[in-house]
Amino acid sequence: MIRLPTITISKNCVSCNTLVEFDVKAEDYDLWVDKIEFIEDALWYIPADKREMLLSGVCGNCWNKLFEEDEEEDED
Ligand SMILES: [Zn+2]
Repeated sequence: MIRLPTITISKNCVSCNTLVEFDVKAEDYDLWVDKIEFIEDALWYIPADKREMLLSGVCGNCWNKLFEEDEEEDED
């Protein structure tokens, strides 16, 4: 059995400063970093909020808050 190398992504949320850590396959991460594949294709197996963390640096909680605030402003 072949074990592919993984790397641990460790980032602080730019909004609330919460440390978010998760593992991705190094091979797949490189595909995204080198712009060979879109993040949702290369790292399809990690949750959307983790991908958002890589893209925008905002954690899932803060993302949801932003989303909720948007919805509140939308009432007319
Ligand atoms: Zn946050």
